[in-house]
Amino acid sequence: MLHVESLHKRYDAVEVVRGVSFAVHAGECFGLLGPNGAGKTTTLRCCLGLASPDSGRIELAGLPVPAKAREARARVGVVPQFDNLDPDFTVAENLVVFGRYFGLSKRHCESRVPHLLAFAGLSDKANAKIESLSGGMKRRLTLARALINDPQVLFLDEPTTGLDPQARHLVWDRLKTLLNEGRTIILTTHFMDEAQRLCNRVAIMDKGALMTVSSPQQLIEREIEPVVVEVYGDGLMHWYERSGKRLAQRAELAGDTAFCYCDDAEPLLRSISPESGLRALRRAANLEDVFLKLTGRDLRD
Ligand code: ADP
Repeated sequence: MLHVESLHKRYDAVEVVRGVSFAVHAGECFGLLGPNGAGKTTTLRCCLGLASPDSGRIELAGLPVPAKAREARARVGVVPQFDNLDPDFTVAENLVVFGRYFGLSKRHCESRVPHLLAFAGLSDKANAKIESLSGGMKRRLTLARALINDPQVLFLDEPTTGLDPQARHLVWDRLKTLLNEGRTIILTTHFMDEAQRLCNRVAIMDKGALMTVSSPQQLIEREIEPVVVEVYGDGLMHWYERSGKRLAQRAELAGDTAFCYCDDAEPLLRSISPESGLRALRRAANLEDVFLKLTGRDLRD
């Protein structure tokens, strides 16, 4: 559905995409992950023909981009990071007006509205004004709007940022429905649990380059120890220097917590005496641990 080969993109003197290659197969959910400024949005904008690459080859939905970007975009749905619904129109009108941009007939768009509103859980809101919708409803409407042209591929830029947990779960549920229908999803997200839950494969990008592409489970198995013990509380530094560092395969301090990555957590847990002021949380390693290992814990702008 999407082939990207040796993509390069420079803004002024800075190369923000540095030779990126990946492919997204039909029917899969592919996550593009990376800290702020990694080059994710620029990569996706190039894929959609909204930014022109300096070099490289892109094929989207069987069509070369940018040469046939407009035709390719007609086969694609895009959910931008920030909802840009038109406040002058009702919920139903927003869907129809958007479809008209693709050259679809008014009648055809109107015939799709009931199905799309049902999908978004907004059937009783057809005539509501946009300003009366909650954040979760707006997100679901933006998702429904991206489906007006019945696209094979959906691009979603941080689909659940700013939503409360209930609304996030509802969006995940809808995305799974779309995947079950055989559609392809390409998303960016800062939520590693979201990526782990939805994506068949993820690419981790930093400083304009792809660091790895794999399934979340394979990444966790390949890149990181299976168990993490988070230790915090009184006497942390003393324990960390004396025992923590030695008993973990890998350990690092972040704020007031020691993250200890272990093959076997028992010796480390035994070193924390119950009467000390230390607290320990033992858990399975997850995609966020991999992400932090590969891209570091430093803050990005
Ligand atoms: P991400 O989506 O991973 O946060 P972006 O692709 O938005 O990263 O940005 C990558 C880098 O390119 C950043 O340093 C950003 O400031 C820069 N950049 C993005 N768009 C432009 C632009 N239109 N003009 C100049 N610099 C840009």
